[in-house]
Formats: sequence, structure tokens, C-alpha cells
Amino acid sequence: STSKLPHIGTTIFTKMSQLAHEHQAINLSQGFPNYSPDPVLLEEVSKALHNGKNQYAPLQGIFSLRETLCHKLNTLYGSDYQPKTDITLTAGATQAIFTAISAFIKAEDEVIVFKPAYDCYEPAIELYGGKPVLIQMQAPSYKIDWEEVAAKISSKTKMIIINSPHNPSGKVLQQKDLEQLQQLVEGTNILILSDEVYEHLVYDDQKHYSVAHFPKLAERSFITYSFGKTFHVTGWKLGYCVAPKAMMKEFNKVHQYNVFCVNHPMQVAINSYLQEEKHYMQLGDFYQQKRDYFLSLIKDSRLELTPSEGTYFQAASYKNISQEKDTVFALRLIKEKGLATIPISVFNKDQQDDHMLRFCFAKKDETLKAAAKIINTL
Ligand code: PMP
Ligand code: GLN
Repeated sequence: STSKLPHIGTTIFTKMSQLAHEHQAINLSQGFPNYSPDPVLLEEVSKALHNGKNQYAPLQGIFSLRETLCHKLNTLYGSDYQPKTDITLTAGATQAIFTAISAFIKAEDEVIVFKPAYDCYEPAIELYGGKPVLIQMQAPSYKIDWEEVAAKISSKTKMIIINSPHNPSGKVLQQKDLEQLQQLVEGTNILILSDEVYEHLVYDDQKHYSVAHFPKLAERSFITYSFGKTFHVTGWKLGYCVAPKAMMKEFNKVHQYNVFCVNHPMQVAINSYLQEEKHYMQLGDFYQQKRDYFLSLIKDSRLELTPSEGTYFQAASYKNISQEKDTVFALRLIKEKGLATIPISVFNKDQQDDHMLRFCFAKKDETLKAAAKIINTL
């Protein structure tokens, strides 16, 4: 075959959103809010558009935004990112992830990926000839077994990808996880790709531990972020990547030729909007209210779950309701009940099926209410 990715089909997000549309189902599948962003942010976009910020931005993004973001990171995580050299604005976290992988992964390189995993990591690794080394985290706790990680590290291990808060499980890594990771990579050349797009969406007494907070991890880490997640604008496809200077130098060699730079007026608008801390520090409370509301609505349902610790996803087991495969059950839920979700097996190693579904609660209260009504009849 001439296909470089013969085993890859269409992403589950596209499939499920399409089916939701066809069957006019309530869509708690693909992760996106169904409410508008802050009008203050929209006003900033309008200003930027009318102030002539409509031509190419600099390759790495506008300097003022890079300054704002480095300052934000360094304040939150005690890091020392420099706006001149250590950050690049990207077309969403997806492009940041793809570019970081493509800048470093060569044939035969091994990359450790924890399953269930967000679906854009493995195809990028494979496209560059690398080999994903998969480690399954077990439902429902989805904890990383660090002894297994130690056993899977080899002389070929080039990169380890972590993601916290974690999509699709809603779990967050603890300080001791990052300390274990630090111990394992110390004295090696292993790089880390830390996908932290949900950094502000952490609930209850949990805390987000960024690799930026651990100098011995930060020195070898790419970290990826997304404004789509932070500001309810997944359609803007704007994010960024930070890493030490030498790593970003390689990153930018790729970035300048696969996109050169990203949307200029949105960068101007977001920079203005970020000047107010409350615009991002209140997100945790906002989404915790959504989570709590959703969970209160389905507390008497037959789903089994522990409350999501982070992200805007709730994972739940339906094993008290059905023994069908999760892909089959999810399809039936759409067609017969009018509710779209994501079957978690598609993110697992060998499609291991734990009878778990993922529900996105970044939805208007009325949408959550209508979804809960269906869930409570199952
Ligand atoms: N990583 C994770 C864990 C995600 O859930 C997503 C999608 N929301 C992305 C990366 C991609 O983010 P973006 O939409 O900014 O490309
Ligand atoms: N990140 C979103 C999710 O997990 C989907 C993004 C996409 O559709 N590629 O649902």
C-alpha cells in the first residue's frame, strides 16, 4: 500500500459528532462548549481586526503575547521561560504536539504513551518512523504503574508523553507521579512531551502539577497548551508550546515550514484579554459548577463513576446497564436514545473494553439536564 498510515481511519470525534448530527442526538461526545466565549474577548477580536492586525504575525507569535504567557507560566509554576526563545504560538495544541514530535522522532525511536491516550500522539510518532510503546492504565483509577514504565524504558526510548489533567479519564497526576518520572529520566536523554491543555480545569482539592514546576523535568520537556480549551473557543485553533531554548530552536525549524506563523488578530485579542488574571483563574470554579450540576442530575442513575478531577470530561462505567461492547453501546445510545458519548476503548491499548463512556460536561445547563433525563432512564 502507498498509505503511510494504513490502519488509521477517521477520528472518533468526527465520527461521533457526525452521528449525533444525523440522529439529532444531544452531543456530549466531542469536547467543545456549546456556549459563547466572553463578550469582552470578542470585543478584543473586533478591535484587533479593525486595528489592522491582519497580516502575518512573527514566526513564533507576537512578542507581547509571548511575554504575557511566559510571565503567567513563571508565576504559576516557578519556571523561567524566556519570551524570546522558549515559546511559540501554534494552531492549537494539536499542531504543537505534532511539531514537537516531528522535530525529534526518527526511525526506530521509541515513545512511551500511556493508554487510554488522546488520539493525535501515535499517528505523529508513526509518521516519522517511531514506535509507540504503549502502557495501559487500568480503569477506573487510571493510575500510572511507574515500575512498568521503568521496565519499558530502553536505550531506544526517545520521548515520554504525559497528559494531565487527563483526557479521557478526568484524572490528574499527583506530585509523587512527577517525582517518579523525574527519577526515571534523570541522567538519560529522554525528552518529555507534557500535554497540559486542561491546566486550569482542576476540581475539589486537586492541584495541577506542571512539569514546568520541576526544573529537572522542565529542562527536557515540551509543554503544550490550548486557548480553545481555556476560553471556550475550540474553533479558533490557537495554542502554544514552551520548552528550553535548544529544543524550541529545533521546533521552530519545523514550525516555520509547516505553518510559518498562526492567526495574528486572535493573538492580539488574547494578549489583551489575558491581562486580567480572573479571565483564567476562575475557570476551575466555572467548570466545577458544571461538573457538580451534571453529577447531581445523574446521581440516581445506574452509571458508576468517581467525580472527574480535571478536564471537562466525566468517565463512567455502564456495566450495571449493559454488557455490550462500549462501541456498540455508544452507537445504540445515539440511535435509540438520542445521546452521543465517546466509547473509551478506542483510546485503549488493543481497544481494551472496560465498559466505560466519556461524557463532555462543557455544555449549557439545559443541555446537561436533557442529557441527564436520558441517562436516568438507562
Ligand atoms: N490534547 C488534549 C488532551 C486534548 O483534549 C485536545 C483537544 N481538546 C488537544 C490536545 C488539542 O487541542 P487543540 O484543540 O488546541 O488543538
Ligand atoms: N479534544 C477534543 C475531545 O477530546 C476533540 C478535538 C477533536 O475533535 N480533534 O473531544
